Amino acid sequence: MKVLVINCGSSSLKFRLIDTDTEEVMARGLFERIGEEKGRFTYIPGEGEKDAVDMIIPDHYEAVKHLIYAITDKDRGVIKSLEEIDAVGHRIVHGGDKFAHPVIIDDKVISEIEECSHLAPIHNPVNLLGIRACMKYLPDTKMVGVFDTAFHQTMPEEAYLYGIPYEYYKKDRVRKYGFHGMSHEYVSAETAKMMGKDIKDTRIITCHLGNGASICAVKGGESMDTSMGFTPLAGVIMGTRSGGIDPEIVNYIAKEENKSVQEVMDILNTQSGLYGVSDQLSSDVRDLTEEYDKGNPDAKRALSKLSYSISKFIGSYFVVLGGVDAITFTAGIGENSYLVRKLVCDRLGALGVRLDEEKNKNVKGAMMISSEDSKVQVYRIPTDEEMSIARQVVKTIR
Ligand code: ADP
Repeated sequence: MKVLVINCGSSSLKFRLIDTDTEEVMARGLFERIGEEKGRFTYIPGEGEKDAVDMIIPDHYEAVKHLIYAITDKDRGVIKSLEEIDAVGHRIVHGGDKFAHPVIIDDKVISEIEECSHLAPIHNPVNLLGIRACMKYLPDTKMVGVFDTAFHQTMPEEAYLYGIPYEYYKKDRVRKYGFHGMSHEYVSAETAKMMGKDIKDTRIITCHLGNGASICAVKGGESMDTSMGFTPLAGVIMGTRSGGIDPEIVNYIAKEENKSVQEVMDILNTQSGLYGVSDQLSSDVRDLTEEYDKGNPDAKRALSKLSYSISKFIGSYFVVLGGVDAITFTAGIGENSYLVRKLVCDRLGALGVRLDEEKNKNVKGAMMISSEDSKVQVYRIPTDEEMSIARQVVKTIR
């Protein structure tokens, strides 16, 4: 099958055309600064050269129109006609507790996604824009919605409920949803493959560490618990997000600093995390590593807090899973920072985790980085959310 995968942000649209029989990426591209004065469209056909053009992209409809021109173009295109596309897979951030699986999109599904929009007021409306734009230009092609939250719908009640009055769950759906589902699902499946095991027989802790970060306890291929919560603000400390804190702090800072609750929430989302703890040195692990190596105490404090916070979740998920066979690092930091992987694993000695320092420093592709005598295998596996979406589209349609 040929599947077009669409991932819409508020001012961006990423796409990939994938031949799912071979998992070959036939074409990929990115529209940036949609709706702004100066936009940019980057296009890469197959193994070909990258093309980047500056252009005004008024809205997501225009972006879809240009992506169709690009993939069907006489010279740089990769298909002759749109009829070759069997399905379009859309990444949708929030499926609430309505969607535990990907779905074929129809009018009813669209209104249900709209109903979930109050849970993700920035993301879901933009995801819907992408769906509507594709429906306009590909009216006869099946559309499938794949949800970031769906993978975590297997969490038991004791994991997803908060210790607040039950009526807020019943009435307002306040519960843990979890995010990065496609990534956790993809890397846990890849980890099982690398272990040479049926995923049903595995207990894996996946660490998706990007600007946003979450840890997930995966048993037999199903999410049992995850660190993000009702929103992506919860869990480990992140680039600029605080992760989990005592909620009373919000009230206290608002009073002490004469700010509104909304202003304090903005600080927790955009001025906290590594950026906040490093006393505004940087939210980026590349900068922090450079400073850490020079002995900068702000960088040391931030990276210690990060590795402490991640290792605590891993420790608690060891209990949730009743033991662990593998720990997998993925996403921007997880894939690229040997230092964060080392700082985290150095704290996991009690679980019998031992890194192979050489392998950890010289990673390439998906590989095991733990030493022969480690009780738990440790992997570095590049995530691929678009491939995960394409795989799920095939499953849904078949
Ligand atoms: P997002 O959540 O925005 O998708 P990414 O998964 O792209 O984030 O991760 C971005 C983060 O990855 C950067 O902020 C940076 O901290 C980290 N990162 C990227 N490359 C490297 C590298 N070579 N070394 C260390 N950290 C890196």
